[in-house]
Amino acid sequence: MLSRYFVFILEVKNISGRIDFDDEKRQFTNLKDDNTIEVYTNPEDQVERHIRTIERIMRILNIHLPIVGAIVFSNTSTIIGQKPKRIPAFHLSGLNSHVNYLFNKYSNEVVTFEELTILKDYLLEILKRDNWKPNIDKNKLIKGAICEKCSNQSFMKYHFGRFVCDNCSVLSKDVLLESLLDYRLLFSPWISNNEFKEYFSISSAKTSYKLIKSLNLNFKGNNRSRIYYIPDNILSYKLK
Ligand SMILES: [Zn+2]
Repeated sequence: MLSRYFVFILEVKNISGRIDFDDEKRQFTNLKDDNTIEVYTNPEDQVERHIRTIERIMRILNIHLPIVGAIVFSNTSTIIGQKPKRIPAFHLSGLNSHVNYLFNKYSNEVVTFEELTILKDYLLEILKRDNWKPNIDKNKLIKGAICEKCSNQSFMKYHFGRFVCDNCSVLSKDVLLESLLDYRLLFSPWISNNEFKEYFSISSAKTSYKLIKSLNLNFKGNNRSRIYYIPDNILSYKLK
């Protein structure tokens, strides 16, 4: 959480059972309801690592806000046993009053709104992750529209404006958009009419072209080389 007064780093944990921080061993244990014990990465170390990262970034940008951290337990059933020594740890219900406490403690505006925006933009920029690329053999994938009603992943055929399941004969229109989203995630956000026709096993090029055209997708290229863009919000498209 960024403000002109301070930066607040929250480590949110959803854990049931009892948790204990061992400051000396830097160990964070969770006694579960079935009496088994599990050890996780110490959230106190995590918060401190994040604080150091933000400190480094602010040094680069020549912005100097105080940085504070907290460990917040979001599961109301968590029993907090031995508390951490350096970073506050509390239940979610205490977050509001903790934030108020921080605004009282850090009551000076340390940076301008412009400086805060620079910090925000910088953080968002380094947050951008590589798009997820599945590491799978694409030839083994079942392509096209797959029936959601059948458990054995039956193929759906396009027939008179709808998809019909080969197995249970259920009809669907929306499966078109869902399958295009699959295509986007598995293959590419761009699809040609020919790829579209093959993906959905539509025998007629004319039918396939009419169907893809009816979606009003953005495209580039003309005629045979035309490719259509499948947006990430394709599921919100309205089908005619
Ligand atoms: Zn079916």
